[in-house]
Amino acid sequence: MSDLQILMLGPPGAGKGTQSSRIAEAYDLEHITTGDALRSRKDMQTAHGTPREYMDAGELVPDPVVNEIVESAIEEADGFVLDGYPRNKAQAEFLDEITALDVIIYLDVDREELIRRLTGRRVCEDCGENYHVEFAPPVDQGICDDCGGELIQRTDDSEKTVKERLRVFDETTKPVITYYRSDSIFHQIDGNTTPDNVFKHIVDLLDSVR
Ligand code: ADP
Ligand code: ADP
Ligand code: ZN
Repeated sequence: MSDLQILMLGPPGAGKGTQSSRIAEAYDLEHITTGDALRSRKDMQTAHGTPREYMDAGELVPDPVVNEIVESAIEEADGFVLDGYPRNKAQAEFLDEITALDVIIYLDVDREELIRRLTGRRVCEDCGENYHVEFAPPVDQGICDDCGGELIQRTDDSEKTVKERLRVFDETTKPVITYYRSDSIFHQIDGNTTPDNVFKHIVDLLDSVR
């Protein structure tokens, strides 16, 4: 396993999950995603209530809950691509204390495209694989190509909650982009094109920095 430490930033729907999975496979890295980790612990009782209360409303889960998940996942990984974290400045500062990143990739995507991607997203109930009704449909409608599981729409991918998540991004997560932007390891990639094309740009970038 390689020990590359990659951070993937971008608004909800930018393609972080899609690209991170491909990077993890191509470079033999752990894919650490706070969204998936929290979805599998949605009803866990914490001092701040359950993750579900925040996630279904499109709000951020409190920092202590998320920080703990990320810290233990990073401790166990030799190399990783981190997706969905940090989402505010306090998380970014915490991450800086516990790791030394090699590359930061910011996927930039237009707002109207984000809304199309999020409202059309479908995920496999069993294995978590990502689809899109229009842009990445499965071979058989509603059924996962990989495992035959049922494809469902995430509760927070409804139009109303998508708008709230984008508002939270603008207000709370954009400052994280500003925080990292002047760093020499920060790279912005145009995420508006096809998944293959975006991945090609990422590979070119990673191969140039390794
Ligand atoms: P994020 O993790 O940033 O929220 P995802 O990777 O889950 O984003 O992608 C959101 C939705 O958009 C999914 O349905 C996915 O299939 C689709 N998608 C991802 N990348 C692209 C792309 N480059 N072009 C069109 N649709 C995409
Ligand atoms: P997307 O990238 O499509 O917005 P995620 O799967 O990354 O979706 O996140 C889904 C939800 O999980 C977020 O709306 C939020 O409630 C919670 N979440 C994920 N990552 C974090 C984080 N780093 N801090 C706080 N909440 C988070
Ligand atoms: Zn599946």
